[in-house]
Amino acid sequence: MNPIYHQLEFGITCIDTEHIRKDFVAAYLIEHNGRAAFIDTGCHLSVPALLNTLKEKNIATEAVDHIILTHIHLDHAGGAGELIKHLPNANVYVHERGAQHLIDPSKLRAGVIGVYGELFFKQFLGDLIPIPEDRLIIAKDNDLINLGGRILKIIDTPGHARHHLCVWDEQSQGIFSGDTLGVSYRDFDTEQGELIFPPTTPVQFDPEAWIETIKKLISLKPKTAYLTHFNQIVFTGKSADMLIQHIDGFVAIAKKLAHQSNRHAVIKEALLDYLLEIATKHGVTLDKTKQIKLFKGDLEICAQGLGVWLDRNSP
Ligand SMILES: [Zn+2]
Repeated sequence: MNPIYHQLEFGITCIDTEHIRKDFVAAYLIEHNGRAAFIDTGCHLSVPALLNTLKEKNIATEAVDHIILTHIHLDHAGGAGELIKHLPNANVYVHERGAQHLIDPSKLRAGVIGVYGELFFKQFLGDLIPIPEDRLIIAKDNDLINLGGRILKIIDTPGHARHHLCVWDEQSQGIFSGDTLGVSYRDFDTEQGELIFPPTTPVQFDPEAWIETIKKLISLKPKTAYLTHFNQIVFTGKSADMLIQHIDGFVAIAKKLAHQSNRHAVIKEALLDYLLEIATKHGVTLDKTKQIKLFKGDLEICAQGLGVWLDRNSP
């Protein structure tokens, strides 16, 4: 199958991993001086799309030096174990809190099946295979990774997950942000710009840490963010404010509905109403049923993550 990808500036390619649908989950390829790196991999089933992209761009598998994982949620990292088998010179970089779960993914697999169910795991994520310990490198805050002379800087970015890291690319003045700078689908772009909201995924969502992280990232004065969900956006102080506002908005919904007997269902419903309302304010004119369909892809997980957060913070 032909891979679907978007060629961006600065040798950066946004590869559509085609997880569940198009324009949903990206992995990035950076090329520089004949060397290449992946940032995130999509899930196990996405690996052919990544390898086909290399083939189509005439990049030898031997030219790939690095696979950098923003965090270990499977739509970002689930393919790394399979991908590394095809890339003889590459190592995998991951946050120290994520490393053990990639060497022995049994707990991660059980956690994911707990959240998504066995059927979804098999059908949409495929598998999760271990990464050999000697191919894994712990990435720490301020570490510099050299890609053919181009410097990629690791930034520790807790909030969406405690073990989340972002990558600052000096060349593009851009941040490869995983889930830290939010989710933003191109279907919701309007004259007002991009609509951004927070994926409050289980099990480590931490709003205070996340907001601090966003402030730290915006102090770098990025020109752009490369989101996993989905593609490149302009990221300004205004974008940061929008994301922080909606983290607060999601938390307020969770707190307000914390004691309802059918908590999960009512939070999910309230989140959908919230997102539809901000879309309207943002000037989105896309058909309502299409909006609902797009938002619903994230709501189950967002509501679950808020539930876990409420339980962790209840006295
Ligand atoms: Zn995530």
